[in-house]
Amino acid sequence: MKFRHILTACAAFLSLQVSAQVNFDQWFNDSTLRADYIFTGTNRTQTISLDELRSSAGWYGRRVNLDSVAVRANSQLTMTDAETGTTIYRASFNTLFQEWQTSEEAASLTKSFENIFQMPMPKKDADVKITLFDTHARVCAEFTHRVKVGDILIRPILANNVADHRTLFKGGDSKDCIDVVILAEGYTKAEADVFYADAQVACDELLKYEPFATYKQRFNVTAVALESIESGVSIPHLGVWKQTALSSSFDTFYSNRYLTTLRLKQLNDALAGIPYEHIIIIANTDNYGGGGIYNSYTLTAAHNSRFKPVTVHEFGHSFGALADEYAYDDQYEEYYFPEIEPWEQNITTLADFNSKWADMLPAGTPVPTPTKGLSEQDMTHIGVYEGAGYQTHGVYRPFVDCRMKTNEVPEFCKVCERAITRMIQFYTEQN
Ligand SMILES: [Zn+2]
Repeated sequence: MKFRHILTACAAFLSLQVSAQVNFDQWFNDSTLRADYIFTGTNRTQTISLDELRSSAGWYGRRVNLDSVAVRANSQLTMTDAETGTTIYRASFNTLFQEWQTSEEAASLTKSFENIFQMPMPKKDADVKITLFDTHARVCAEFTHRVKVGDILIRPILANNVADHRTLFKGGDSKDCIDVVILAEGYTKAEADVFYADAQVACDELLKYEPFATYKQRFNVTAVALESIESGVSIPHLGVWKQTALSSSFDTFYSNRYLTTLRLKQLNDALAGIPYEHIIIIANTDNYGGGGIYNSYTLTAAHNSRFKPVTVHEFGHSFGALADEYAYDDQYEEYYFPEIEPWEQNITTLADFNSKWADMLPAGTPVPTPTKGLSEQDMTHIGVYEGAGYQTHGVYRPFVDCRMKTNEVPEFCKVCERAITRMIQFYTEQN
């Protein structure tokens, strides 16, 4: 699937060597601080500014590994106690802004993007730092602001008008589980039942795949029937514009199949009163496409014949922090460079292959590994196959095929499976 996703580079699973554990109850209230930021820039500049702080009851993110990140990703949030400087919370994200920075348009235009990060509400004054990394893994922007306990301008998110929702799968208590929401986009009030049926299909499909099947008791999945005024979603290359709950559209960055929403405030506001940590948006359209941004959201087209595999693929990005394993030659700018090992677990430039799946590779396997004699959808031979991360040369994938490469095979490759397993454990087990 030719959807582009954010890709910068660097070492992996940095975080899992942890210092002293941060105890949730010592540092945090059981409530959420939402920080809305605006990222502005061009292909060479970036400025971060704070838009607004919000608060809401309950914290539905992780309560373990609080001072670690699962992967480096291309942006990070670090919260430190103002008095002692102790790191009390970290998270990593990808952003559409940084992806846009690698597009041709960014060479001649300044643009702004919304970015919203949720974090547990600190009990004492804290400093929140946002760090962005460029495609060479260098820090390219930093922004720090203080969060003061009792700040009267932290605006509460009121939950008087909670969207209609249903539980699709309940693994257990929110405190122990990963809370996933599936949201309706482009469904009218009269189409709510169609949405609930589509959401159930997405939920069932995801939980069929390993490692989600093995770990499904660690997930809660809720469907949220947001109402749109019009049915369907915007498809600019066909001249179709619709008034929908989340203002999503195809043609993101002029790529026909790239379906996203840039309205992250609208998205997070729509979830007021509903526990959520990971977001899947399903769009009421039969047009082919989707998008997935690590720790932001997955967006997928419900009435296209490839709905099921695309949903799982995009969740591989938004939850699993996986890279695309396909390649093509027509992209504007390279994402991966030979001297930089990507942070994504399922691709390598061989700069530091030992940090990837070298431990899974049978002795004597040639690197790179030729595909001669293997079928196009071989899922049994692990190797180091050239072509991944949108590049036909210099970036390698672990299997000939994978859910992160095509819609045809019915599974993640073993390297992606291990990466997703680690991610589930990161959210639910103290390291
Ligand atoms: Zn894979």
